[in-house]
Amino acid sequence: SEPRRSLSLFLESGVYRLEGSGAVFVDPVRVLNRSLARFSISPSDYYPRFFEPGPAEAARGGADGRKRKRRAKKPLVLNERERVAAQRHQEARPFLVKAHESLLGATELRAFMLKMKGEVAAAEDRKSMLPGVPPSFIELGRLWQAPLYEITLNFSQEKPTGDGGPLIVHSKEQKVIPIFDNLVHNGTEDDLEAEFLGSQYVIPRESCFYMSDLQQIHKMVPVEGDARFHFIVIDPPWENGSAQQKLRYPTLPNKYFLSLPVQQLAHREGALVALWVTNREKLRNFVEKELFPAWGVKYLATFYWLKVKSDGSMICDLDLFHHRPYECILLGFCDKEDMDPRDLSRLSNIQDKRVLISVPGDYSRKPPLEELVLEYIPGTKPARCVELFARDMRAGWFSWGNEPLHFQELRYFQKR
Ligand code: SAM
Repeated sequence: SEPRRSLSLFLESGVYRLEGSGAVFVDPVRVLNRSLARFSISPSDYYPRFFEPGPAEAARGGADGRKRKRRAKKPLVLNERERVAAQRHQEARPFLVKAHESLLGATELRAFMLKMKGEVAAAEDRKSMLPGVPPSFIELGRLWQAPLYEITLNFSQEKPTGDGGPLIVHSKEQKVIPIFDNLVHNGTEDDLEAEFLGSQYVIPRESCFYMSDLQQIHKMVPVEGDARFHFIVIDPPWENGSAQQKLRYPTLPNKYFLSLPVQQLAHREGALVALWVTNREKLRNFVEKELFPAWGVKYLATFYWLKVKSDGSMICDLDLFHHRPYECILLGFCDKEDMDPRDLSRLSNIQDKRVLISVPGDYSRKPPLEELVLEYIPGTKPARCVELFARDMRAGWFSWGNEPLHFQELRYFQKR
């Protein structure tokens, strides 16, 4: 039957197309695991929050009471900016509600999510956390010694001897190269294990990273035109004043993002740009009026990421004023000299207000987006993809940021 087929597709791909709403449910663990051959991400390490055993409320800790208070204080008279924000929310609302209804209607998927919750809880008990604390790339990268730090890449290859015989040659090769301000590339077809200051990292096949501060970003722009990108995902460290955020990573004032070399990163065949934004109206205004124009990006559409718990309910009330269970992705594109007119017309017909649903992972960790936009990425396939301000790596992708190895540490993986 159809639901059965959707579920088996989901088990393979991590993507479930919900009927009736055009929304998709994504399990980032399954999607990310498609990047890896010898390792896999364990759900209990990806989902530390909303898959926790016991009532989901417990996972939100003390924040709950505060939220309730905030709701009680909801202003009756809105200022101009709040009015625009409320208006925006009203426009998004029917799409979010419809997407959520279609998730609630997907009984096979929901039964599966509950089963997964059980598995995560069980894994929680026997979770073997690696000893020690991994180094903080953000802090090390700021030291004057940063250029001296090196990463060891352990290439181990198994190659048939070539004469058709069953003999296999194992070769081990090590490469030791600077970890900061340097392009680190796994050009092989296999996952690669790397070591840095006593911690181990997993580098997916055909992926690379450039770890640096924003000041050095221009150095990661590929010189060769054909090495530039068809899909550019950007999740900037926007300021939002949350204490949680301050503990996790530094933030930057908006004006710093104006100089991101988006236009230079875009492939001559054109590029689709996906920008994660928070719900602050001031920020939306800045992106539309200043940031996209400064980057030379033409606005296309807004997508939503609706966050749910493992039981399928939203992580908070849809209509809370200062806290929404969804975030926005603004899509735009760079029109380039060699853009195929067919790519251009597909882009201009992009459906607005589509919804991606998933259970959130670690603080500020975003779900993979490309399943929703695959058909719109211009240029020759396979598309070249880059993520700016990345905290993890994907097969075939280029990751840039001051900690792109963060979630690549071995503690987030199991050996297959
Ligand atoms: N998309 C990521 C994910 O899903 O895990 C989250 C990105 S987070 C919103 C922003 C990232 O930008 C953090 O890793 C932060 O350390 C990094 N960042 C902050 N200031 C930076 C700077 N000056 N240069 C480079 N990266 C910076």
